[in-house]
Amino acid sequence: MRIHTSITEVIGNTPLVELQHVTPKSGARILAKVEYLNPGGSVKDRIAGAILDAAEAEGKLQPGGTIVEPTSGNTGVGLALEAQRRGYKTVFVLPDKVAIDKIRVLEAYGARVVITPTAVATSDPRSYNSVAEQLVSEIPGAFMPNQFANQNGPLAHYRSTGPEIWRDTDGTVTHVVIGVGTGGTITGTGRYLKEISNGRVEIIGVEPEGSIYSGGEAHSYRVEGVGEDFFPETFDTAVPDRILKIGDAESFALTRRLATEEALLVGGSSGMALGAALRVAEELDENAVVVVIFPDSGRGYLNKIFSDDWMREQGLLTEPASEVSA
Ligand code: PMP
Repeated sequence: MRIHTSITEVIGNTPLVELQHVTPKSGARILAKVEYLNPGGSVKDRIAGAILDAAEAEGKLQPGGTIVEPTSGNTGVGLALEAQRRGYKTVFVLPDKVAIDKIRVLEAYGARVVITPTAVATSDPRSYNSVAEQLVSEIPGAFMPNQFANQNGPLAHYRSTGPEIWRDTDGTVTHVVIGVGTGGTITGTGRYLKEISNGRVEIIGVEPEGSIYSGGEAHSYRVEGVGEDFFPETFDTAVPDRILKIGDAESFALTRRLATEEALLVGGSSGMALGAALRVAEELDENAVVVVIFPDSGRGYLNKIFSDDWMREQGLLTEPASEVSA
């Protein structure tokens, strides 16, 4: 019999799906790693177990404890799944740009959600990081995983995401394109693939316009889960060979094309990563095997990216999606 004792046992081993329509003219192959097929619906399911295992082993998390974390939603879901199984309470602190659907999901898993303003600097006491730190100091038995510093995040990707890509491409992968939020995915996945290929695999980071990883001024943007106005400890900037910036309009147009042309209903950071993958792929030829990670599902963005009204209000529906280059 094939029976699992917890849904968390089926995290990882997500499929690689070759894009057939939103493809480069160069003939380079683009393989999407579809992370919404994780049980919590995103790539972040992968880090929660590793982070809580380490916290328990180090005595930072005791029975009856509370997990407090500033998160754009997906890390919260991953932590909520693991916390429920292990008997911990959860409190998540989210910036107010996060879609209401994502908040309801966290609450559905039994978490408490605290909303903070997006338009303040990380150092501001009202920022989601500052509010989370305040809650940790107030709640007895509180533990903050701190996904921006916790090295068990990158380690989880070094042990799962990287080896899966190598295995599923029989070692033929040539380029991997990964959106950078905490940098955990790119750091762990990229480090593994660099090591196993003796540096042959090229690793490309992607951030929104308005994020500072590859320079430039910080400003707000609409794509969720990626980019920052500081360098997190979980991001080893030595791992990516280069970092590309993609704007919201291009990210969202490609996200919508993935749903209508590839039957992949994914979130905006997937469209962003694809924008960079297409740019890179146009420099290559049919021998290139470009893997791009699609971090989460589009279901959390139905009233945003997939709403013409919202897109128009944001000034992001200025040209038909089909005219955005692929
Ligand atoms: N896309 C989405 C939708 C996310 O929630 C995240 C996690 N913040 C990422 C991409 C980036 O992953 P990482 O934090 O590992 O860099």
